[in-house]
Amino acid sequence: MNGPENSIIWNMTRKCNFRCEYCYFPHDNTPVTETLPVGRITDFLDGTGDRWVVGLTGGEPFIYPGFVDVCEALTENHRIGVDTNLSVSSKVRDFAERIDPARVQDLYVALHIEERERVKGVDAFIENARLLMDKGFRVIVNYVVHPTLEGRFHADREFFAGHGIAITPRPFRGRFEDRRYPEAYGDRAQAIFADHPEQGKKIAFNFYGVPCSAGRTLLRMEPDGTVFRCPGDKTVLGNVLDTVTLMNGDEPCTKKRCPCRGLDHVRLTPAQERLVEGVQFAVVGDGERASEAFGRALDIAPGHPCAENNLGVLAWRRGDREEAGRRFRSALEKRPEHGTYSQNLAHAGEGAESFDPALCLDVNFENQK
Ligand code: SF4
Ligand code: SF4
Repeated sequence: MNGPENSIIWNMTRKCNFRCEYCYFPHDNTPVTETLPVGRITDFLDGTGDRWVVGLTGGEPFIYPGFVDVCEALTENHRIGVDTNLSVSSKVRDFAERIDPARVQDLYVALHIEERERVKGVDAFIENARLLMDKGFRVIVNYVVHPTLEGRFHADREFFAGHGIAITPRPFRGRFEDRRYPEAYGDRAQAIFADHPEQGKKIAFNFYGVPCSAGRTLLRMEPDGTVFRCPGDKTVLGNVLDTVTLMNGDEPCTKKRCPCRGLDHVRLTPAQERLVEGVQFAVVGDGERASEAFGRALDIAPGHPCAENNLGVLAWRRGDREEAGRRFRSALEKRPEHGTYSQNLAHAGEGAESFDPALCLDVNFENQK
């Protein structure tokens, strides 16, 4: 099997032994009973003739029955990644003992500090993370900077650094107190994400109409074996217990929100690439580089309304209300029906100081809805 690795995200279960307040899954810690014969999954993957990275996610994957056996079977011919809260210590030790770190792309560990403190699991977490790192696994500890945690983030980062564990801030995505995040971090983002510009990539762009190879190079599998085109597009391609027919070529994206990983699979034009780059910089508070990228998008595609709007957002953050208003107006002239542009212009006209104008995430401006 040659060539680049494809990705399949396996949602193993929606159950979890944690009860994070902001989690959108039901808080269900009963035993996982819905399982799949791992041989059917490896047969499917091997049968494609490609190499795959299987992203094991949940809920909490470590509570899946025989989890380490599953990992062993999958890593014979393919690699895995795991999203985990790293709290099931006995299984973590078993995993560290039996799985080859070279067959594991990343272990994404979510810190969920308030829930971890509630279950008195901080010491166990440090021990588990250190064990895996010492064994040579690549452990990435994520800290979702929910607006309510902004105040303690820096102290938490220092505490874990003192135990040899680097934590990576991740932007909160969603609404809090009527503001949309991560855009609403505004200037505060610089202080949080300055050392982590890669976090700007965790944005749910609108790639509607953009050609994408998901359905072939990216898949999503449900607990019952159903295979979807991707996490955003629930088009059913089959079931690993029966047959799965992968898509051919690059088909246009039909969704207005790409929840994750789409960036590695879409085919962007040069102007779209600059636009994406600009948003990624803007979200982590790097106004200068964001401005440069949006400017280059406009050089390639003059009048691009999304780039105009986003330059307006940056102007607003700098306090240049006049330029912001001009940019929002220009974007709205190109797309009079666009809600973000009209709201930005309306609020800019009112001069509301507490207003955070919204970035435009619509990459394919020819197909903006
Ligand atoms: S650890 Fe993850 S899946 Fe479990 S409750 Fe927290 S956010 Fe939800
Ligand atoms: S752009 Fe995102 S949502 Fe659309 S098909 Fe590709 S991966 Fe799926």
